[in-house]
Amino acid sequence: MSKKVLVLGEVREGSLRNVSFEAIAAAKQIADGGEVVGVLLGDAVAGLASALFEHGADRVVTVEHPHLKQYTSDGYGQALLAVIEQENPTGIVFGHTANGKDLSPKIASKLQAGLVSDVTSIEGAGDDVVFIRPIYSGKAFEKVKVKDGVVLASIRPNNIAPLEKAPGKTGDVSSITVDITNLRSIIKEVVRKSSEGVDLSEAKVVVAGGRGVKSEEGFEPLKELADLLGGAVGASRGACDAEYCDYSLQIGQTGKVVTPDLYIAAGISGAIQHLAGMSNSKVIVAINKDPEANIFKVADYGIVGDLFEVIPLLIEEFKALKVNA
Ligand SMILES: Cc1cc2nc3c(=O)[nH]c(=O)nc-3n(C[C@H](O)[C@H](O)[C@H](O)COP(=O)(O)OP(=O)(O)OC[C@H]3O[C@@H](n4cnc5c(N)ncnc54)[C@H](O)[C@@H]3O)c2cc1C
Repeated sequence: MSKKVLVLGEVREGSLRNVSFEAIAAAKQIADGGEVVGVLLGDAVAGLASALFEHGADRVVTVEHPHLKQYTSDGYGQALLAVIEQENPTGIVFGHTANGKDLSPKIASKLQAGLVSDVTSIEGAGDDVVFIRPIYSGKAFEKVKVKDGVVLASIRPNNIAPLEKAPGKTGDVSSITVDITNLRSIIKEVVRKSSEGVDLSEAKVVVAGGRGVKSEEGFEPLKELADLLGGAVGASRGACDAEYCDYSLQIGQTGKVVTPDLYIAAGISGAIQHLAGMSNSKVIVAINKDPEANIFKVADYGIVGDLFEVIPLLIEEFKALKVNA
């Protein structure tokens, strides 16, 4: 049977998040030559279809409704179920983001299907596809094969490479009219804690501070370094608990999971709960004045020293590199 895999495009502040393109790459592997259909839900989202085509979608279906302007479990659930009813897919891929984590189990339960969540890589294709996902806070990985039913998967941002962009590629865009009714909640306003800067869960560079940063002002050099490298600032729970920064920056088991190309951990001891959120980063640099700190066990490069001396030196060096580049 020919496969058809839906990909939920995730829209934030009028543009598609990168994870949508990574999900298309995953869907291509699951579809194994079958059709990959991008799904856009929102208020006015049809204009974003071209980005889905350029990243590999074969076709795009939209549902536009004023109640879909902001994500709600109810609203998106109704809209996506209408698309599923029309398209009858063999698979659906979500980003393992706040919205994807909320919506994917709901859809799986409605379809009486299983869900493979937080997938970090995929082996094989089509009926032989095997999903790899971390378990026990990243201490081990399991391989999951779906034997029957619709294949539902959510993929961790920054792990599966998007396909090479094909500028100008287009395709068929169709829309479905769905009467979004009986919403149990309507979002009136979204107040963002940090509206500027790079999205932490998709950042290529993360500069994270721990209790060793010692104060809110102590985060300033970390912010400067992150800005210089086009990255985002993160934190350990120790730093958040001490009120040096907002909990939205927390990385770890009970915070965000990040997989940047470069993770700089400054004044972070490396508790297992913190490692669960960052140990899959491609290159880890640890700065800690305690040579026995656990963070050095996962670091590719370790700097034993005072972060307030090391970070200004790094800033100086990176500035010099930029000037000479
Ligand atoms: C159920 C549960 C869930 C949890 N979830 C999370 C989570 O999601 N994320 C998370 O991070 N933690 C989490 N924790 C907490 C975790 O166990 C640790 O307590 C926390 O990560 C410690 O934060 P820290 O490394 O910043 O602080 P500390 O352990 O106090 O380490 C501070 C480090 O800074 C170094 N240091 C001090 N001054 C300097 C300096 N001037 N220069 C360089 N280095 C310096 C010290 O040597 C030390 O290694 C969780 C705990 C539990 C029980």
